[in-house]
Amino acid sequence: MYMIINSGSSSIKFKLFSTDKDEKIITEGIAERIGIDGRLVINYQNEEHKFEDKMNDHNIAVEMILKKLLSLKIIENYNQIETVGSRVVHGGEQIKESVVITPETKEIIKKCIKLAPLHNPGALVAIEAFEKIIPNVLQVAAFDTSFHQSLAPEQYLYPVPNSWYDKYEVRKYGFHGISYKYICEHFGKVFKKDVKKLNLVICHLGNGSSVCCVKNGVSFDTTMGFTPLAGLMMGTRSGDIDSSVIEYMVKETNSDVFKITQILNKESGLLGVSEVSSDMRDITAAASQNNSKAQKAFEMYTQRVAQTIVQYLNNLDREKIDGIVFTAGIGENSNIVRQAIIDKINIVNLEIDNKKNLEKYDDFKEISSTKSEIKIYAFRTNEEQMILNDIKKLKKNK
Ligand code: ADP
Repeated sequence: MYMIINSGSSSIKFKLFSTDKDEKIITEGIAERIGIDGRLVINYQNEEHKFEDKMNDHNIAVEMILKKLLSLKIIENYNQIETVGSRVVHGGEQIKESVVITPETKEIIKKCIKLAPLHNPGALVAIEAFEKIIPNVLQVAAFDTSFHQSLAPEQYLYPVPNSWYDKYEVRKYGFHGISYKYICEHFGKVFKKDVKKLNLVICHLGNGSSVCCVKNGVSFDTTMGFTPLAGLMMGTRSGDIDSSVIEYMVKETNSDVFKITQILNKESGLLGVSEVSSDMRDITAAASQNNSKAQKAFEMYTQRVAQTIVQYLNNLDREKIDGIVFTAGIGENSNIVRQAIIDKINIVNLEIDNKKNLEKYDDFKEISSTKSEIKIYAFRTNEEQMILNDIKKLKKNK
């Protein structure tokens, strides 16, 4: 069995896959409120099993997950888990693709804690917990940053003193890379195109949102930056704003940089503007009821994505553009958001086919009309599948 885990700052999501050819999901679940009180939910054979036990850290959470898998008889022993694949947010500049966990790769994850202080520690503790509980299990890490290591200095450097980069590693890293890589490989597979020749603008619109310009199969530019706070407006994140606002608001509210940055991360974006919710479903529902703040949030969100698409299309060779792809929670599901974004693009003749935009789909669908100059698609992303694919590749090369 393959165990794929995704550690957040206070949660661990997991999916257990069979090692059979069809790689079906045996069970999935989430350990959450780690360090607060602790709740574990495991879905198995259409039943939800809930446990409320204190989980002080990610180490205890992993122990709990494995113990409950045993007690629910989902696994008979830990050795049935032959590989663990972890999503790690930050791999810095050294890591350009998924890696087998070794003392050296763990050291790199550790070194990147200062760049991703909320996410990398949990991932590392979880990896070490699996090491302890299932000695010799093969562990692989896939990184959100690695897909963007192809960015050129013009793209990744900020116009600040060189020493900020040379001494302090301040640069654009970009995130959502596992999702972007999956979309590229899957797009190549379904349309039988060489991934190395793909030219796409991919909009990963979830609670965290970003856009990536893929040129010749690699990331050419992306909107998130040194941290995921940069770029588009998101569920609770502001995205790009004038950085002087921080100093100004510190003074005006007699606050500190930490608190203001916290507000920009947790209380801004759709939530801050709409004062309704960070969830796009609530925003579109409130907007349709003429809630003016929700309407404003919706306009601001879709405008920013539209502007980015235009900017990123301009990086690509017109004749070689394979499409614009919408993915992640909002991109996959909200026909209203997709329509509003495309409606805001005037410089290129893009058109959505209403009927196709509304159609239900499993994996992907084209949503552009025959008149559209560039094809437009909705694709379901699958980060776990991407990690699985990387595991298999690494196993083959071992
Ligand atoms: P993340 O992984 O960043 O937490 P997701 O990719 O799961 O986020 O996306 C969450 C977002 O997707 C939420 O804003 C949610 O409202 C939105 N979403 C999910 N389903 C729909 C839907 N049917 N229509 C509109 N938005 C949706």
